[in-house]
Amino acid sequence: MKLNLLVVAGDGIGPEVTNEAVAVLRQAMEGGGHELVVTEKRIGGIAIDTDGTPLPAETLEAALASDAVFLGAVGGTKWNALPPNTRPEAGLLKLRAALGGFANLRPAFAIKELAANSPLKAEVVAGADILFVRELLGGLYFGSPRAWDKAAGEAWNTMRYTRDEIIRVARIAFELAQKRGKKLTSVDKANVLEVSQLWRATVTEVAADYPDITLEHQLVDSMAMLLMTSPRNYDVVLTENLFGDILSDESAVITGSLGMLPSATIGGKINLYEPIHGSAPDIAGKSLANPLGAIMTAALVLRHSAGLEAEAALIETAVRKVLEAGYRTADLARGNTTDFKVLSTTEMGQQVRATIAAQLAHS
Ligand code: NAD
Repeated sequence: MKLNLLVVAGDGIGPEVTNEAVAVLRQAMEGGGHELVVTEKRIGGIAIDTDGTPLPAETLEAALASDAVFLGAVGGTKWNALPPNTRPEAGLLKLRAALGGFANLRPAFAIKELAANSPLKAEVVAGADILFVRELLGGLYFGSPRAWDKAAGEAWNTMRYTRDEIIRVARIAFELAQKRGKKLTSVDKANVLEVSQLWRATVTEVAADYPDITLEHQLVDSMAMLLMTSPRNYDVVLTENLFGDILSDESAVITGSLGMLPSATIGGKINLYEPIHGSAPDIAGKSLANPLGAIMTAALVLRHSAGLEAEAALIETAVRKVLEAGYRTADLARGNTTDFKVLSTTEMGQQVRATIAAQLAHS
């Protein structure tokens, strides 16, 4: 197969980690006899400096003409004084809206070799492997009416969902559960909120089409605690927008480093892939960034936009093998550093590619 990928590397460590991820993606695809065609465009602060806008028209046009979009990160101190709607982050929000993805997939998984990086006890996180499916275009962030009446000292937002919005994201979550542990936990606050009662009733209705999946419902407040006390009990976790924003960030502690986590936004016209971390201005330009979150994001491109599961697994296995062999970037080198070989961003990318090459040679 041939994949036309738009790469928008962005600012700070965005280009550093993206370079490594795209090189790994190319290697995995070409190793399987597939073709990767990459187009690069500007987004974020670099686009403000060059084009006067965080999302130039030609970037948006290229995104809409692509099979998938890979984003590094946007933002940085240089642009912090700009008004919110002209900052680098505004470019990313506009891109997300234009691509139309409504299901945000965020894995949170334990990696045995990184147990010392998690603030949770190793025996609690060992084996945890959760996939959050967060509804991204509805709920409190988009509902109207919304306003801040400064004179009255009053502000309000609206949590609103339609049945169809719930059905479409629930179907994605059930289908993903079929490919994983066949368990789905739907999160709501149905003891208090009408919108959650609709959410629960609709998800239960959709479940009838997926008899192979075990569905359970959890209230968001108890779920916040259960994710930290027994994360191994969860497989696919389906949430509305706000609850998913909070719970998926909380669950990043299971892996122990922001630099390790990938994400994908699917269901719209074009899928958008991005590591969850930001542009990390404090370490930009020093080759200190951990590229593994971006590299794991490349695996999600293969899984969700190319249908290449074996190639996706090849990348994920290589990342685990590199960690098992004791290779670390600086953010992961906690504990007894004499046990680790600390690598730069580019060296870590090379190490992953060498591991993939060895796997391909044995297959
Ligand atoms: P951040 O994720 O950039 O950094 C938080 C901390 O984690 C920093 O100490 C950083 O050095 C570290 N870190 C992050 N990624 C890392 C990696 N791959 N390897 C090693 N260490 C890593 O978040 P922040 O500091 O809150 O934000 C910095 C800028 O990024 C801001 O302008 C913010 O708006 C933007 N941001 C962008 C995105 C995005 O593009 N999707 C997401 C979050 C933040």
